[in-house]
Amino acid sequence: MTLTPRPGILEVAPYVGGEASVPGVNRVVRLASNENPLGASPRAAAAYSALKDDLHRYPDGGATALRQALAEAENLDAARIVCGAGSDELIALLVRGYAGPGDEVLHSAHGFLMYSIAARIAGATPVAAPERDLTADVEALLARVTARTRLVFLANPNNPTGSYLRAARVRALRGGLPEHVLLVLDAAYAEYVEEADYAAGADLVEACDNVVMLRTFSKIHGLASLRLGWAYCPRDVAEVLNRLRGPFNVTQAAQAAGVAAIADKDHVARARRHNATWRSWLSERLSAAGLHPYPSVGNFILVGFPGEPEPGAEAALAYLKARGILVRGMAGYGLPACLRITVGTEEETRAVADALAEFMSEAGDSA
Ligand SMILES: *Cc1c(COP(=O)(O)O)cnc(C)c1O
Repeated sequence: MTLTPRPGILEVAPYVGGEASVPGVNRVVRLASNENPLGASPRAAAAYSALKDDLHRYPDGGATALRQALAEAENLDAARIVCGAGSDELIALLVRGYAGPGDEVLHSAHGFLMYSIAARIAGATPVAAPERDLTADVEALLARVTARTRLVFLANPNNPTGSYLRAARVRALRGGLPEHVLLVLDAAYAEYVEEADYAAGADLVEACDNVVMLRTFSKIHGLASLRLGWAYCPRDVAEVLNRLRGPFNVTQAAQAAGVAAIADKDHVARARRHNATWRSWLSERLSAAGLHPYPSVGNFILVGFPGEPEPGAEAALAYLKARGILVRGMAGYGLPACLRITVGTEEETRAVADALAEFMSEAGDSA
């Protein structure tokens, strides 16, 4: 007998994050991972620094103060909040808790990649439902529910497309699911959404026994490095997650920074305003350059390239990289003619817009 992992593990294509450096380039413009260009709240950074003399202490395994702060800020029941080392950990724990070999995990075709990765790791089968106009299609999802379906993941807004489902459509999705299926609403970008018909999903969690909402501190709170996410759950699901998670899965630094970040409402408002301003500016500039930016309610834009015979997304990715600008290639998401660009600082956003305009005009010259 040789040493062998469980069936399926070696078939999992590892998640590849956005690139963060270019050899030989000192100042890299990082627009590949949807990070907050304004950084974290100074109050969160101070709370993090204040812990440096307590590194020998175990964290509060119940994340009590953080759950309390979240509950107060969002008017939720603290007992049904479970914190994780990023929402990625919670995605993996939910799949592990509810699905295994022979079970199906449903997601939309261009949904966040971690759903299918987590399903495969658990030995379950990921099932992709087609989308309509790069937006999750409720009827297509419901049509793929079988007796084996255990979870449905919906990123709302979705990464990488930037599209979202109105609250009424999410209710229709949940209404069409059998009771044995857990609907996971991944609202990583909820704070950026300004549309009145959007809801992150806490109300559905309150109303149903089979809906979970996931949130993260990695995006608008600018704390991606600390790995902090949370789930709002029905009581039974919270009990499952609390059994599965490590007893000290969230560091004290993350908990303290999280509490401070929630309290800094001005920083969040500033980040939201910055994003709205520069997202629409970037979108207009991309259109003017002859590209096709898709509508986005997140902190990033998916942009389509004309492709054959003109050079397409892959050439643009290399062109930007040679200039020290990193954005995300989309082949792994089944969108090879697109790139995903995070809204950066003013300087970064202008730099990527200028470079893509040059790229397109050079392509036009040589055509
Ligand atoms: C960034 C992102 C997450 C958050 O990941 P963390 O593990 O919390 O950093 C979750 N879901 C989606 C759709 C995302 O884009």
